[in-house]
Amino acid sequence: MSQLSLERISKTFRGVEVLRDIHLQAEPGEFICLLGPSGSGKSTILRMVGGFETADLGTISLAGEEIGDLPPNRRNIGFVFQDYALFPHLTVEENIAFGLKCKRTAAEESKARIRSVLDIVGLTGLEKRYPKQLSGGQQQRVAIARAIALRPALLLLDEPLSNLDAKLRRQIRLEMRALQQELGITTIMVTHDQEEAMTMADRIAVLQNGVIQQIGTPLELYKSPANLFVAGFIGDPP
Ligand code: ADP
Ligand code: MG
Repeated sequence: MSQLSLERISKTFRGVEVLRDIHLQAEPGEFICLLGPSGSGKSTILRMVGGFETADLGTISLAGEEIGDLPPNRRNIGFVFQDYALFPHLTVEENIAFGLKCKRTAAEESKARIRSVLDIVGLTGLEKRYPKQLSGGQQQRVAIARAIALRPALLLLDEPLSNLDAKLRRQIRLEMRALQQELGITTIMVTHDQEEAMTMADRIAVLQNGVIQQIGTPLELYKSPANLFVAGFIGDPP
């Protein structure tokens, strides 16, 4: 059974169709990239899966259960946004504890999880720092730690690396991918960067104007692009 399944998802904003007949399945542990130019509908898909936007048509299932009508906090999904959105007035450990508190995790369990996720993302020792005392890369790792501390059934990443400089971006790509594989957590990541998608994804869904033009492994897309748009967008391999 697929971990995540989107069937015939469509969405119109003020008479403009921004998603048309989206079908997408993610297998357990799979890393899928939604790749496409700005405005192609990538974030809208993610926000729908997260529960921050409703589809006009279609169904969304997580581990076999339809979740389209559940509020975000009942979907068991972790979300990391482009700007990390850490609480500036809370320390690293308080940022991570916040979500655990909302889920009524016991204090001891909460402490153990914070220790474990900080170890996983390599930030042990920075518990008492505030976000502004961290580098962009460190803040981004806190955001990921905060998401995975909740042990979500699915992790959604919306351009999580786009605010980092090119060198750090390349390094964190590899780290994030290794971490994702180690945890075996099913992940959907939005990006407009083809190199990022090609180096990180098990499979890539290429979007243009709200339509998935092709879904395949990086090699499949490179070797047999479905059309000129995909060929042009994928370009040369890194
Ligand atoms: P991407 O993430 O690929 O850049 P988005 O999903 O953010 O694209 O947006 C897809 C299209 O939907 C864009 O044309 C955008 O302007 C429009 N859109 C997104 N959210 C809204 C909204 N809340 N109201 C109106 N239009 C929206
Ligand atoms: Mg976007």
